[in-house]
Amino acid sequence: MKKRILIVEDESSIRDMVAFALRKADMEPIPAADAREAQLAIATAVPDLILLDWMLPGMSGLELARRLRKESLGAEVPIIMLTARGEETDRVAGLEAGVDDYVVKPFSTRELVARIKAVLRRTQGDDGSGVLEVAGLKLDGQAHRVHAGADAVPIGPTEYRLLHFFMTHAERVYSRAQLLDHIWGGSVYVEERTVDVHIRRLRKTLEPWGMDALIQTVRGAGYRLSSKP
Ligand code: CA
Repeated sequence: MKKRILIVEDESSIRDMVAFALRKADMEPIPAADAREAQLAIATAVPDLILLDWMLPGMSGLELARRLRKESLGAEVPIIMLTARGEETDRVAGLEAGVDDYVVKPFSTRELVARIKAVLRRTQGDDGSGVLEVAGLKLDGQAHRVHAGADAVPIGPTEYRLLHFFMTHAERVYSRAQLLDHIWGGSVYVEERTVDVHIRRLRKTLEPWGMDALIQTVRGAGYRLSSKP
């Protein structure tokens, strides 16, 4: 199955150039000139990834990313933001909106395709056997077991769910509210503080193997699992 990539970009020359590169890389481009067209395309068929220009006429790319993350249709689709130089300062806003990666214009299509492949690999995580691996930490979804190198890691049920979520969404930042939603199903009886408690326990669980640093705090945004320091 070809990967379907939605290109949301108002400049037709960039849209065409990216579409051409994607076809060459055996992917299927779906062009959209603004947020409205993008939303229509997503409602028709959810793409595998969205390339989203920051500056769009009407609703901005950032606003569209925010909205998609709140909707059930677009919540899980990886997003790569296309930004002009100078907009990089808004990275935190983008991360908060759940953007997976950034590519700064002007970019080479070769670099763009490489980044798309990397994000797809990362967000799909599972290699088919149900085993996820990040930096030597392995989670076997079928056996419900976690290993650090060769050692079995004793882990509590909530920490397991938290880790599983992070490993299937590596590198992406989630706010406490989003984690509550995903891990606890948005129960109104659970406070956001609860998330901090379980993050602490998860770090403690991984500490003996020096893997607690994988669970990172992103100031003002939330938490993420990342193999990068
Ligand atoms: Ca633009």
